[in-house]
Amino acid sequence: MDRAILHCDMNNFYASVECALDPSIKDSPVAVCGSESERHGIVLARNYKARDKGVVVGDTIWKARNKCENLVVIDTPHFDKYLEYSEKAFKIYERYTDYIEPMGIDECWLDVTNSTTLFGTPKKIADELRSIIKKELNVTISVGVSFNKTFAKLGSDLKKPDATTVISRDNFKEIVWPLPVSALIGVGRNTYKVLKKYYIETVGDLAKEKKERLQYLLGKNGVFLYNVANGLEDEEVAKSDLKDNPKSVSHGITTVKDLNSDEEVWKTMLNLTQEISWKLRKYKLRAGGVSVSIRDSKLMWHQWQKKLKSTEQSAVNIAKIAYNIFIDSYDWANPVRNVTISTMYLTSDDSPVEMTIFDDFDKKLKVEKIESVMEKLNNKYGSEVMTLATLLEENYLPESRRRVKYSEKKNDDNN
Ligand SMILES: [Mg+2]
Repeated sequence: MDRAILHCDMNNFYASVECALDPSIKDSPVAVCGSESERHGIVLARNYKARDKGVVVGDTIWKARNKCENLVVIDTPHFDKYLEYSEKAFKIYERYTDYIEPMGIDECWLDVTNSTTLFGTPKKIADELRSIIKKELNVTISVGVSFNKTFAKLGSDLKKPDATTVISRDNFKEIVWPLPVSALIGVGRNTYKVLKKYYIETVGDLAKEKKERLQYLLGKNGVFLYNVANGLEDEEVAKSDLKDNPKSVSHGITTVKDLNSDEEVWKTMLNLTQEISWKLRKYKLRAGGVSVSIRDSKLMWHQWQKKLKSTEQSAVNIAKIAYNIFIDSYDWANPVRNVTISTMYLTSDDSPVEMTIFDDFDKKLKVEKIESVMEKLNNKYGSEVMTLATLLEENYLPESRRRVKYSEKKNDDNN
């Protein structure tokens, strides 16, 4: 049986959320811009009214205003709200399937192959999702429906806003082949240049090329593109694990200034995990998994997660795990603008802590004890008295000194 894959893309996401938050601006041209002082004010998103006046993403504010004099400029983007809307949309998608693979804050793939007996045809699911999201969130999505991921993605790009496009085995040659190769994921600037040089201009041209020739010209990506153009791409939609563990504790921050180094990210993570750890202690929970989401300065999302061998509750330990995930995975192609850490697979902290032979049990309990004592002091005397940061700073120090510091703290606590 053919797979049923949906690609859902929220239209003009940032601008749409702003209009949903303040309906009084929704009939005006709206542009969401980076703040003038920090980002030299460029347009990050605009609605269709602004687009019709020629405003494009990347315009400076003054240029956008020149094109469109009654432009409503949102110069302080509400990133926390965008995240909230994104999460709400993903919750709606979860009503239909567990197979949800995010592609960014505002788009994702859903594999609804096994949902059709319950909810009807893939097109019906797509149409339903559009109307639910419009009704519950007041923003619109475009949905591509197809038998593979690339065509689903292509479909959501073809008709906007608030539309469903079905690309089937029967019609894909008709719909996809006339499109320029640049419409495909996998055709970046360099690939595009190579293809153009050999007069491969449409997806149809690509499909009719010899696979070996494309491989010769473009390597692995050539084979991938050959498969895509011929409807042979069959990559899986990654399953979201979050559904099994709806309870997660997370905290994220959009930084005032772009982060440019591992160390800056580390400090940010330490700040985030203090609140996470506080919440875990408050609800008497331990985390069995950690996920890290990064939004870079090009506003692309990156997300990784890790299931832990034993559960954690301490801010330092969770920050360390998050940091290791980050340094293993992030390539620093762009500076970092938002860091979000989530803990999941939460279990009650009464349940026995599963240890592995790799854990230093004493050290773990020590760290947790220090943190909870510090928290009690903070509650009693106010947070200025003792901040975790002073302890956490030690993590920059070599291992040997760090251990000494920990034991000093422990002695202090005992006194
Ligand atoms: Mg979008």
